Amino acid sequence: MSLTEIQIIIIEQELRESGLDHLPLFDEMVDHICCMVEANLNLGCSFQEAKQLAFEKLGPKEINEYQKQTDFLLQQNKILMKRITVAVCFIAGACLMISSFLYAQNVPSIMPLSNYEITSTFGMRTDPYTKEKRQHWGIDLKAPMGTPVLATADGIVITVENQPNGYGKYVVIEHEDNYQTRYAQLSEQNVAVGSKVTKGKVIGLVGSSGRSTGPHLHYEVIRDGKRIDPISILEDS
Ligand SMILES: [Zn+2]
Repeated sequence: MSLTEIQIIIIEQELRESGLDHLPLFDEMVDHICCMVEANLNLGCSFQEAKQLAFEKLGPKEINEYQKQTDFLLQQNKILMKRITVAVCFIAGACLMISSFLYAQNVPSIMPLSNYEITSTFGMRTDPYTKEKRQHWGIDLKAPMGTPVLATADGIVITVENQPNGYGKYVVIEHEDNYQTRYAQLSEQNVAVGSKVTKGKVIGLVGSSGRSTGPHLHYEVIRDGKRIDPISILEDS
């Protein structure tokens, strides 16, 4: 015999009055009591008697036990939520690391030589040939002839040329985010147009070709077609 809707409502009401007000286990309790009431009805009791018997079996000890289980479930939920939060933070952190890694690979943020002396900075200077004030569009790094010159970011070689009255033997690499880098006055160019290079790869050797007074690397960074100070985008600047 199954219970009518009204009988179930009566059971729910009595259960609320008995002090079990935690929601997560309330429905389970109602089911449990309804089963007991149905069993009693099947034994021939009236609804009132069946209900009374069921609630008598459900003393303060049982209710206390249900409350404890409810608290335990709530605690588990809290732990689960904490775990989800930690996981979300972890994933967000990983995405941030990957994007900063990609940024670090694509932006010319290292020096093209591992040992050097900066002999001329970016900006106005006295031209070593004409002794007149002129804009210097890159930086000059003095280093021994044959010192390896490194690509300062991942990219593709777009120019490998020789300009005897200017840059001498030089290489231009194109990078993402509209960056280009130029490496001039080389003694040797070790890449070809179209070569893919990674940050730190050797692309040539320091020399004194072109308009040069001694072994050094003339290095330029071009962003959106304009030459900028290479020092300004270094990793640790
Ligand atoms: Zn220079």
